[in-house]
Amino acid sequence: MKITKDYFSLVKFKNNYLRLFIIVDLVNTLLSLLIPYYASLIIEKVTSEFYSMAFLFVFILGITYLFNRLGSYWVNWCYANFFKHAYVEVHRKLVNNVYHFDEEYSKKMPTGKILNSSNTDIINIAEIPSFIIELAIEFIKILIIYLVFAKQSFLIAFYVLIIDILYYYYAKRCNDKNAYYFKKQKYFADKLTGILSQVLIGLKDIKSFDISNKLNNKLDGYRKKWQESYFLKRKYYFTRTTVVSLIIDFGKIILYFILIIFLMKSQIEIATFLLFISYYDKTTEAVNNIMSYDASILEESVSLYRINEIICYGNSTLKLDGKVHNDNITGLVEFKNVSFQYNQTPTLKNISFVAKPNQITGIVGKNGAGKTTILNLLLRMYKVDKGKIFIDNLDIYKYAQDVYYSNISVVNQKTFIFNMSIKDNLSLINPNSKKQIDACKRVGIHDFIMSLPNGYHTILKEDAVNLSGGQKQLLSIARALLTASEILLLDEITSSLDPNSTEHIKNLLIDLKTDHTIILITHNRDLMKIADMLIVLNNGKIECIGKHDDLIKNNEVYKQLNEIV
Ligand code: ADP
Repeated sequence: MKITKDYFSLVKFKNNYLRLFIIVDLVNTLLSLLIPYYASLIIEKVTSEFYSMAFLFVFILGITYLFNRLGSYWVNWCYANFFKHAYVEVHRKLVNNVYHFDEEYSKKMPTGKILNSSNTDIINIAEIPSFIIELAIEFIKILIIYLVFAKQSFLIAFYVLIIDILYYYYAKRCNDKNAYYFKKQKYFADKLTGILSQVLIGLKDIKSFDISNKLNNKLDGYRKKWQESYFLKRKYYFTRTTVVSLIIDFGKIILYFILIIFLMKSQIEIATFLLFISYYDKTTEAVNNIMSYDASILEESVSLYRINEIICYGNSTLKLDGKVHNDNITGLVEFKNVSFQYNQTPTLKNISFVAKPNQITGIVGKNGAGKTTILNLLLRMYKVDKGKIFIDNLDIYKYAQDVYYSNISVVNQKTFIFNMSIKDNLSLINPNSKKQIDACKRVGIHDFIMSLPNGYHTILKEDAVNLSGGQKQLLSIARALLTASEILLLDEITSSLDPNSTEHIKNLLIDLKTDHTIILITHNRDLMKIADMLIVLNNGKIECIGKHDDLIKNNEVYKQLNEIV
């Protein structure tokens, strides 16, 4: 019951196919119960030489087979139609929740688990309603068979019940163990997928450091654990289907003995003998099916709860979203006594500054000083512990999501570009071709794009590895400009560029500040020089604020920074 409830709280989608599936499956199963009944009638009529009746029942049996098979076809057709919608719904839900993950997700939600769940787990769980319904039908079926038995012979029915309960007891123990090891197997499969996804990202480093053997040792550790879990899972499965099934086999042997004795004493007829054996087979088949469905449902519930964990994590992450939809933002940014810490140690201490529109505000400081954290807070990745951040004098957490992110854009040192064409990458932000070309012209990458054989339709490799560092940064800036954001956050965008590209970006920033608020993290002296205001961070505190020319004369920390760069 709990699994059904949890399943339908995840898969809200219910359509007529599922309802039809339940009805047709039920009718069809009842129909299949008639088959041994007609078969025994045929034998009875043949042995008592009522051949015309025997022919009639052969005909009826043929019709029953036909309807039974057609019913099965229809059952599968209905279920496949339900399944395809359910898969899409759960996949969409899972990915939508992944979009809400915070920066810390990998600590609790390993990448391998997300990748595996988005694929195999969703396929697994789509079968849950089918198996639950099948299981319920098998219960009904077995109940009917017991009633028929009890009517014919209470003692034999009772005997069969004891055999079935014995089988059920041991089979259930196997199923529980099977599910336990299945969960473990998935856990190690997640580890393997997680490492593999990192291998793909770090292929270049793996080759240059020649560390594939070391990585393989790590993978081998998980592979071994996977093997153990898989084997134990499989062992409990085949123990049930072989050793535990002996209970059913020997139950039948004993039943043969009993029935032959009854036959010898003429207490039953041959037709009843066959009917009893046939019903014994039907009950054991039903109880066997129940245990198979139980094993599948248990395994699939492992998948169901794995998906639920991912979705719950997405739901539980901090949603720093407000209700203000005012889109007329000028881009005035203010930090007022802001303090923040990730873990135990304070990262930012009492930070206050104002970044004005049409100005370049530079944030400088040694590595670890807290520069990126300022941008993270501004992007609402975390909530400040103390103080407030304002944009246009309104607390940033009060802005609605869409308004907020259409007014603030970031270009990172390692910006991400999708494995799509240049046009498709830009279209994710704004599909207007003219605006895309204007943005590329403004940042100065249009001519380069047009020189490519396929122009804007050139497919970029994942993370744009087929572009140079400078071209990639210019494309990222063009992408940011397409948002029409007032505020541009630029995090060390020139750190891997040559002097020519840096000079180009410098001139570009001077142009961009005419209609933007620019907040720039940099270690580059030329960019520091063009900043209208520099905030020097030292150990999470503001050391001083001023222009390059003043700071270089008066501030030791800033002087040291300039010596390093
Ligand atoms: P900067 O950009 O000036 O190099 P950061 O803002 O990235 O510095 O980091 C400031 C401090 O916060 C560093 O000591 C860093 O280790 C720590 N830090 C950064 N991000 C995290 C995080 N997600 N979890 C915990 N600590 C972090």
